Amino acid sequence: MNALQPDTERLRALDTAHVWHPFTQMATWHEDAPLIIEKARGNWLVDTDGNRYLDGVSSLWTNVHGHRHPHIDAAIRAQLDNVAHSTLLGLSSRPAIELAAMLARVAPQGLNRVFYSDSGSTAVEVALKIAYQYQKQRGPAGEGRSKFLCLRGAYHGDTVGAVSLGGIDLFHAVYGGLLFKTVRAEAPYCYRCPFGRQKESCRHECFTHLEETATRHAPELAAMVIEPLVQGAAGQITHPDGYLAHARALCDRLGILLIADEVAVGFGKTGTMFACEQEKVTPDLLCLAKGISGGYLPLAATMVTDAVYEAFLGDHAQCRTFFHGHTYTGNALACAAGIASLQLFRTEGTLERLQHIITIYDALLRQLETLPHVGDIRRRGIMTGIELVEDRATRRPYPFALRTAHKVVLAARRRGVIIRPLGDVLVLMPPLSITAQECGLLVEATAEAIQEVTGGPRV
Ligand code: PMP
Repeated sequence: MNALQPDTERLRALDTAHVWHPFTQMATWHEDAPLIIEKARGNWLVDTDGNRYLDGVSSLWTNVHGHRHPHIDAAIRAQLDNVAHSTLLGLSSRPAIELAAMLARVAPQGLNRVFYSDSGSTAVEVALKIAYQYQKQRGPAGEGRSKFLCLRGAYHGDTVGAVSLGGIDLFHAVYGGLLFKTVRAEAPYCYRCPFGRQKESCRHECFTHLEETATRHAPELAAMVIEPLVQGAAGQITHPDGYLAHARALCDRLGILLIADEVAVGFGKTGTMFACEQEKVTPDLLCLAKGISGGYLPLAATMVTDAVYEAFLGDHAQCRTFFHGHTYTGNALACAAGIASLQLFRTEGTLERLQHIITIYDALLRQLETLPHVGDIRRRGIMTGIELVEDRATRRPYPFALRTAHKVVLAARRRGVIIRPLGDVLVLMPPLSITAQECGLLVEATAEAIQEVTGGPRV
């Protein structure tokens, strides 16, 4: 570690005095000597003292090709020479048009229309409003269909509509009085099966439970909202194979729209460009953000099928317009970054290379199974959750107040690696551009940090 610079001390004091950090108990924020990131390159972040850290969570699950990729930097600079921002309200813009056409080409077939916004939460809000209005405009078939079915542990963002869908009590319960009611189904969380099963005794009750819940509430449901394959913020809960396809079939049978929230899983994180591809599913609405701009600038999109889009066409008297739009919707710099990022997927063979890396990464991760307090290791593509437990035999969690995973994260940081806790689940989700050697460092530092904090001989 380099010596603490006076300027770092000054910035830390100003940070403590003025910046309110997200999802953070500010009373204790300063105790962990916050890092202040000055610059970055590739898969590495550099703080104000010149220390380097491997970006093991891709700057909140968003960076795709590494930081300061010359192709994305150049695209943003070139766009800056034209225009940084001009509205999509009453005007259009070249990068917004070209990115929309590219997204329509790479998204699951049938999703041809792109509504831009600025964050994952707004992409979800847009989807909710479109689904709600779509049902209203459908005539008698859509009558009374105004609710949303979502899963326990769901996370779809922090705006009020998205929080209403949310199923993580720690984050969402306090806002109960502010939220609209949803229909909730149990999540297929295999390590802590809500139906009391183990792997060997699994009877896929989660499938029948979803079917029963959707069927019972179908007449009042506008849409089912799902994070395909992995429920990220719930602790990287990986769904059983076929669950998403099952949800699609149910929605078709019951006349419910399927909203796939690929804000976290999209753009290669599960190994394919979109998670839906792995179950050959086209949702009616697809929410995208985070990796859409390569992780460089705020941008989001809600993509819809032609059928959904066409329900909004009509003359002015019918008032079928979608009344929604943010000032920075389809920002030109962010769209230019998005175009460059999609180009890189093609020119650098990002997903093909990732398959090779994942084989190496997976073998490394398996070594963590020998640590006595690692209860479960879940992975889909590069998205990884390591659930720590006090007692492996009974799967008993650590007391919440111990903040075990948080301590592990600090221990990993001392080893030059940034990872994040979600409760007592460690999240590892590096950029897709991570190298085999960096995978080794990421897993080794995580293992040492777990061992330092939780102790116990390897099993
Ligand atoms: N949906 C999912 C599945 C997410 O993981 C997130 C963010 N982690 C969001 C929505 C919200 O995205 P944002 O933070 O950009 O609003």
